[in-house]
Amino acid sequence: MNRELMDTALHHIPIAERARKLGAWERRVTILGSTGSVGCNTLDLIERTRLAAGADGEHVFAIEALTAHHNVDLLIEQAKAFQPKMAVIGDESLLPRLREGLAGTQTQAAAGANALLEAASRPADWVMAAIVGAAGLPPTLTAVKRGAHVALANKECLVCAGSLLMDEVATSGAVLLPVDSEHNAIFQVFDYEHPETVDGLILTASGGPFRTWSTAQMRVATPEQAVAHPNWSMGAKISIDSATLMNKGLEFIEASHLFPVDPSCIEVLVHPQSVIHSLVRYVDGSVLAQLGSPDMRTPIASALAWPERMPAPSARLELGEIGQLTFEKPDLSRFPALSLARQSLQTGGGAPTILNAANEIAVKGFLDRRMGFLDIAAVVEETLDHLCRGQGGPRLNNFNDVTQLDALARTHAASCVVKRAKE
Ligand code: NAD
Ligand code: MG
Repeated sequence: MNRELMDTALHHIPIAERARKLGAWERRVTILGSTGSVGCNTLDLIERTRLAAGADGEHVFAIEALTAHHNVDLLIEQAKAFQPKMAVIGDESLLPRLREGLAGTQTQAAAGANALLEAASRPADWVMAAIVGAAGLPPTLTAVKRGAHVALANKECLVCAGSLLMDEVATSGAVLLPVDSEHNAIFQVFDYEHPETVDGLILTASGGPFRTWSTAQMRVATPEQAVAHPNWSMGAKISIDSATLMNKGLEFIEASHLFPVDPSCIEVLVHPQSVIHSLVRYVDGSVLAQLGSPDMRTPIASALAWPERMPAPSARLELGEIGQLTFEKPDLSRFPALSLARQSLQTGGGAPTILNAANEIAVKGFLDRRMGFLDIAAVVEETLDHLCRGQGGPRLNNFNDVTQLDALARTHAASCVVKRAKE
């Protein structure tokens, strides 16, 4: 094969396979949100790979860029250990501290929204989108636009701009690798060669810390009780989303964009042990599942090595010791956020954008102790009612429309929080 043809052919071979064909390989990685729970787990896997390779071994992963919002000390520590080309702190007031911490290293220090976009546009093969909230959309979009392999943890991106983002994925040739454990599970067992044989998806949910609580108990729940997830250790926002079941609602919307399945064929099932991470139903009655201990390093490793596999230190699944796997239907009257999310997808247009933005504001209002736990879903509902007025969601023609609607929903939701704080 001549050189040009070989380059073209190589371009179509997924990255890990390409690397294998070329012998020794190095994958350049950027982590957006490296100081968070998913970001730290990703670096933990990369660090273990380095240690396993030994001092003289090939470095399988090289870090192109790391980004964080406020936690400058951890970012400096990570940059010193992993030597990225660039380290970005969102909060510009922390740039002098970052510069000082990285003095004498080869890492360029930068700050602010444009630097975040620059980090995402650098030539990494693989980008972990692990920023929390709609704030992760611009850099994730930048990585998608240049056709990178994007490991997607930041589900809010797909909730607030799903169709527009998926259109960009299709035109740029980017590869979206789902990292959310449920979507990663489905990704692993979905028959992409015969999608017509898929009958539906079942997203499992742990049920969160309030699975067995009454509405009266939840009314007086504290932030400490709500973030104490029974199975997973995660950032504060997703932990609250798990307690309200909004997380499963966001994941329902995320799944509707990631997989070629009608939303009416996506079910949610509460499975308190978090061992079965999700399931795919096939037309012949077969139901395929992916199982594992609840440790995000398994889905992250699956995306990091895709389409191959790499070792992860997650505890070995011992079903004999677990003994029982149980299932129950979600209680929509105690957890209205799940219904709100499903309805917003049905409403269409920008309704999910409103839902997501209002939820971010409401979760913050609860974490700041300005209102109660049950107020979270109430604020989201009030904001959706106000901005959709019983009609379809506002039309989203482009990403500017998403930004504007997101801001509008935040303003209204913030006024709902103020109202509740005064009560
Ligand atoms: P986290 O709060 O622990 O970390 C968030 C990261 O994003 C941090 O590095 C922070 O510095 C950065 N960040 C926060 N706000 C930012 C902003 N405005 N601009 C730029 N950077 C910002 O969150 P997490 O638990 O790691 O979750 C990250 C994403 O992954 C979320 O979308 C979450 O829903 C999803 N997710 C997380 C888990 C988990 O186990 N933690 C599982 C599945 C999906
Ligand atoms: Mg999940």
